[in-house]
Amino acid sequence: MKRRVFRQTTRRLGASLTVRLGAPQPGAIGHYDRRAREIVISPALSHAGRIVVLVHELLHAVDEQIVASGVTRHELPHEWITAAAPQLVAALSALGVRVPAWQTMRRFFEGSERGAEL
Ligand SMILES: [Zn+2]
Repeated sequence: MKRRVFRQTTRRLGASLTVRLGAPQPGAIGHYDRRAREIVISPALSHAGRIVVLVHELLHAVDEQIVASGVTRHELPHEWITAAAPQLVAALSALGVRVPAWQTMRRFFEGSERGAEL
């Protein structure tokens, strides 16, 4: 079955960043590729799972930029990011923030949509 891959680029975090559904690194359900500046999330996850992974990988991307800014030389511990992502999603949910459908999230991202096959 052919699936359309969501792939958008945003500059809203201060740097170009692409988010797409696709095959992450082996053994992972998502990853942030610093060189490609790309977040890849497994399409096999539930929507809620995708959101938690997206927040996790966004924390890596933001952390990278904080370190690059010179504010600190130390990246956040991976364990902290792993624990923080679901907590952030839960906190937003408790505050009534609704996570939109994956397609609706495209509005957040800039750039053009590119179709691809899995
Ligand atoms: Zn991670």
